[in-house]
Amino acid sequence: MVARIWRTAHAARQALLDLLFPPRCIVCRSADPAWFCPACRAQVEKILPPLCDRCGRHLHRQECPYCRKLPLTIYGIRAIAFFEGNLRRAIHTFKYEPRPELAGVLGQMLSDYLAAHSLPVDVVTAVPLHAERERARGFNQALLLARALGARQNLPVWDSALARVRATRSQVELDAAERHANVQEAFAAEARVAGMRVLLIDDVCTTGATMDACTAALKQRGAKSVWGLALARGR
Ligand SMILES: [Zn+2]
Ligand SMILES: [Zn+2]
Repeated sequence: MVARIWRTAHAARQALLDLLFPPRCIVCRSADPAWFCPACRAQVEKILPPLCDRCGRHLHRQECPYCRKLPLTIYGIRAIAFFEGNLRRAIHTFKYEPRPELAGVLGQMLSDYLAAHSLPVDVVTAVPLHAERERARGFNQALLLARALGARQNLPVWDSALARVRATRSQVELDAAERHANVQEAFAAEARVAGMRVLLIDDVCTTGATMDACTAALKQRGAKSVWGLALARGR
């Protein structure tokens, strides 16, 4: 009963807010129920083949120089688009304003990608956020994306398949090798991932170090395969 009153009150408050501040595209400010309009989404620059099979970067030559220098153990990482322009702005607003409502439209982009490029997956999970950061933000953006994707693709989402067991430094200032060292053994996985083909979701992938450290934890528990899917990555 209390829950129902609470839900009704919440819905009424949301309806009032939408009336006072109708949803607008976070880029061009045109009225848009998803907060990121189709025209602004169409301008997002997709990462097109040829790709490195492993890290998913656009390849200019035969052998991927990044993977030769620092081999990944994850089966493969794919990202939809470059972390630039409108998508960068959308992800930034989603995380830092924050505007968790954007998970719907961003999850739809992941879903569209997966529909067009199938990846082997039994279960979806997200790169866990450091507990302190999650408390400060109020949500884990990667998990909201994983849930939005799972709902659209009818895939189970395991919220707690991975946990951060060690605090890590911010990766921003670190080079690729330092990033890998920084996240080594930072994660642990649940036993139930054994035999599962796991799809790991993150908002942004840089060197792949974090996804690779998650992969190590999942493989330690016997996951059959691990693929990573991110909205965006750097060039
Ligand atoms: Zn727009
Ligand atoms: Zn590569």
